[in-house]
Amino acid sequence: MKITAITTHLLEHRLAQPFQSASAYFDSRLHLLVEVQTDEGLTGWGESLGPAQMNAAVVAGMAPGLIGRDPLETEKLWLETYHRFRDPGQRGLTITALSGIDMALWDLKGKALGVSVATLLGGRFFEVVPAYATGGFAKPGLARVDDIPAELQRYKAQGFGAAKIKIGFDVDEDLAVIAACREAIGPQMRLMIDANHGYDVVEAIRLGRLAEPYDIDWFEEPVLPELMDAYLDVRGGQPIPVAGGETWHGRWAMKDAVERRCIDILQPDLGGTGGFTEGRRIADLCALHGVRLVPHVWGTGVQIAAALQYISALPPNPPRPAPLVPMLEFDCTEMPFRQEVLTQPLAPVGGVVSVPDGPGLGIEINRDALKRYRPEL
Ligand code: CA
Repeated sequence: MKITAITTHLLEHRLAQPFQSASAYFDSRLHLLVEVQTDEGLTGWGESLGPAQMNAAVVAGMAPGLIGRDPLETEKLWLETYHRFRDPGQRGLTITALSGIDMALWDLKGKALGVSVATLLGGRFFEVVPAYATGGFAKPGLARVDDIPAELQRYKAQGFGAAKIKIGFDVDEDLAVIAACREAIGPQMRLMIDANHGYDVVEAIRLGRLAEPYDIDWFEEPVLPELMDAYLDVRGGQPIPVAGGETWHGRWAMKDAVERRCIDILQPDLGGTGGFTEGRRIADLCALHGVRLVPHVWGTGVQIAAALQYISALPPNPPRPAPLVPMLEFDCTEMPFRQEVLTQPLAPVGGVVSVPDGPGLGIEINRDALKRYRPEL
């Protein structure tokens, strides 16, 4: 089998209700799917995290080196492609673009061999994965302290057992939002907070100390992702487990954070950190250092399927009769093509999602949706 084409598909949706985290303002959703075609008619799908048009340009730049190659040789193709772009691009777009290609190659390999990616990765430890709802963004014109608790009550009514909200705006206001959310959802539902690196160390430590009574599972991206020493200060200075990793691309970016124990929970994104080829190595790095891994997900059903395959194959660490199952991050914000790109939706039912057992990622792409959401550039 040989690769004959690598095509990118941009998808865009203008939001009816814009929203904001501490690091980004969203008035549209723009994502990139990567399609790898072969001379045997098999097609693999992947997705890249980050600026979609820029990822598309880098994928186009990588494609000529991959045409005519055997798509089953995922390790070789990853290393050769990375090495070709290594000097100018050890982080960022080189890795995010390569992630989409690698994800598509693993989808292809699974289809060629008739097994799911989780089976290719070594086996399915979990068939059902609990999902947590990601939302709780600031929305212009709405008071966060009223709007976000009501949003979380909707997630609870939908069956989610956990949800994550956005903070990192102002410590006192954020604390009021956290308190109101805990009050609204009651003591059982899990609650996580994500500052999207909106605080400095002093603010993050104060927030973490004062938020402890609200039973928070993790405190995500408290400080700027470049500042490993600041992460260490936050981890040592307040009691909530610290999470991060969605902006760290590739194993070398993860190495310091894990080895120096800057985080309790690492959140690699398969579409950003190098696909399954690199994701597997990062899982080993976490296991080696006893760091919990909960993948980051921000994208379409392709990303969701990839995360499910990955989670399913993560060896429990430690193994025990009822081991901890890493949660699936499920973005609940407005994005109609999240599910429409799939012929079969991959959404939580009663707060859990079944891992697809078809070959590759276990999904089929709805090409009509690709046309419907293609942006006019
Ligand atoms: Ca995040």
